[in-house]
Amino acid sequence: MQLITGKTKLLGVIGDPVEHSLSPVMHNAAIAHLNVNYVYVPFPIKRENLEKAIAGFKAINVVGFNITIPHKQAIIPLLSEVSQTAKMVGAVNTVWRTDAGWCGTNTDVEGFLAPLKALSLDWQQITPVILGNGGAARAVVVGCSEMGCPEICVVGRDRAKLEQFKQSWANSPLKAALNVYTWNELARLVSNTKLLINTTPIGMYPKIDESPVDADVMKKLSADAIAYDLIYTPNPTQFLAQAKERGAIAIDGLEMLIGQGAAALKLWLQQEVPIDVMRRSLREYLNI
Ligand code: NAP
Repeated sequence: MQLITGKTKLLGVIGDPVEHSLSPVMHNAAIAHLNVNYVYVPFPIKRENLEKAIAGFKAINVVGFNITIPHKQAIIPLLSEVSQTAKMVGAVNTVWRTDAGWCGTNTDVEGFLAPLKALSLDWQQITPVILGNGGAARAVVVGCSEMGCPEICVVGRDRAKLEQFKQSWANSPLKAALNVYTWNELARLVSNTKLLINTTPIGMYPKIDESPVDADVMKKLSADAIAYDLIYTPNPTQFLAQAKERGAIAIDGLEMLIGQGAAALKLWLQQEVPIDVMRRSLREYLNI
């Protein structure tokens, strides 16, 4: 790692809690590899201190930062500019400083798409099925729409929340048609899709034997489909293990995590960043 000197510039992540964030690991690995004079630090910031903290960041010349729970929406009114992507997702995860003030975007969309873009898909022919309708599902919907999917299916357990989710895009430039379903309709949706994405936390530690999709339903997944789990540990999740048994392509959440981080670091440093180094640092740290 570069020696921290009087010239070292500050990057970081704000959240509460922030102790479990993996971002410092991958960003500082990339910074060390590039031999640039930056350091990436976690900043635990309580809800009630957000505004003061951001004013302080300006005062001490922080170059940029990531935002995690619970500040992803609350940060928006404190920014002078918000990207169209972040407006569509309804959340900001990356901020950088300009002469006009703080600007924000959402790199989760780019992160989610990164491993899919490597597969050269015919997006017009794909109707993704997204399990869950929380914050991460929003970035997935925007990503699939940006790539040209004509229709997107979202599966949730609460009809009212699903309707709200759909309504939230009513006056937005979302190009895809968004349809919402409850879990009892999953079997039909799974058999008709080439892209099945889990955005629920089902399968995370400690319930690592659980999958959001019953084994019988997973048998309906086409062998040439892609199963994408946003969870990154365990690796693979039960959901991805089932999909692999079907012969499907499995993508884990680590790729999205790396992709959103790489997109943020590129914005701050204004140069290409070593994605392999970021991936390796996380794999080593997580022991996967
Ligand atoms: P969130 O906003 O809380 O959304 C979770 C969604 O899952 C909600 O729709 C929730 O339904 C649903 N859900 C939760 N438990 C369920 C259950 N037992 N049965 C059915 N549905 C259930 O969380 P999030 O921020 O979207 O994150 C979701 C997952 O994505 C987490 O595992 C997170 O670690 C992962 N993630 C990964 C990345 C990455 O970079 N790889 C980025 C973001 C998130 P209700 O609304 O009905 O409660």
